[in-house]
Amino acid sequence: MLCVSNMFVCTAIFRVAVVTGANKGIGFETCRKLASNKITVILTARNEKNGTAAVKKLQALGLCDVVFHPLDVKDPASIASLAKFVEFNYKKLDILINNAGENGNAVNLEALPSIIDGGMLQVFDENVDNVKEVSSETYEMAVECLKTNYYGTKRVTEALLPLLQLSKSGRVVNVTSFFGQLQFFYNEKFKAEMSDIENLSVEKIDEILQWFLKDFEDDKLKANGWPLTVAAYKVSKAAVIAYTRIMGKKYPNILINCVHPGYVQTDMSYKTGPMTPEEGARAPVMVAMLPDDGPSGRYFYEMQESTAY
Ligand code: NAP
Repeated sequence: MLCVSNMFVCTAIFRVAVVTGANKGIGFETCRKLASNKITVILTARNEKNGTAAVKKLQALGLCDVVFHPLDVKDPASIASLAKFVEFNYKKLDILINNAGENGNAVNLEALPSIIDGGMLQVFDENVDNVKEVSSETYEMAVECLKTNYYGTKRVTEALLPLLQLSKSGRVVNVTSFFGQLQFFYNEKFKAEMSDIENLSVEKIDEILQWFLKDFEDDKLKANGWPLTVAAYKVSKAAVIAYTRIMGKKYPNILINCVHPGYVQTDMSYKTGPMTPEEGARAPVMVAMLPDDGPSGRYFYEMQESTAY
């Protein structure tokens, strides 16, 4: 199938979406579904070769309105370059899907089966001793994990907000995880502050993340009730949920929500879990296509709105 880009056709009538971390996994399938819904998709990835190959794959399926732009969500210059690209070519943005993520762990693949039960990784604190045999998490990894999952989401959103405000139906979908639900935390101060959305602010989330990192560095995770398994991932995703709730209130003309896509067989989950990437993309796309009177500042557990944060 030969695709000719419509980038220069009148874009006012087209919806335009940006998906981060979209060269594979849930992000790639999200692009496929959005493009199938006649939405122009800017598929972004930090690796140019992988991103271009992903676009070619979609174009080979006849999905011509997909273009690639590089984006490393940890790099402010890369984010600024994407924002300029969207502004210059499309003048607005309708949908932003903050999907890029990392799990913040190094895993011994040979030992991995010892923490899989029923086809699923048992990375819960009850199982911490077994998990520690298989997966390690250093302070440096924790810093990088927060940078990608939380600060990446926040920075990309901030850079693209002016363009989202120019849309008649702006949508932001932050891909979080059920691991960000406060049930995985025993730190009562953290839970109280993260739940108190009336008084929580983006600055406060930042302070809380610095507190977590300090405790990580000082080996005080257990003493202060932080998660002991995939700790930074859980903290980063809790921060994404709290950020979404704050932003939903702050920008009433855009629908800003977050979603746990389900437990999906991707590289991040070492291909464990019950869902395919195609199934994992259903909830993010459903939330991206909410009607104009739909909810904002909410958390979706797969296809259902949930208050289990
Ligand atoms: P995946 O296949 O490993 O995809 C992760 C994507 O994020 C890759 O494209 C990766 O790029 C990209 N990425 C990582 N760091 C980046 C950076 N600094 N800048 C730009 N892109 C970056 O995993 P996935 O399961 O599809 O994950 C997608 C989202 O779903 C993540 O936010 C994850 O936390 C969330 N999630 C997944 C599950 C699950 O069961 N799989 C469950 C709950 C939530 P590279 O290829 O270059 O590394």
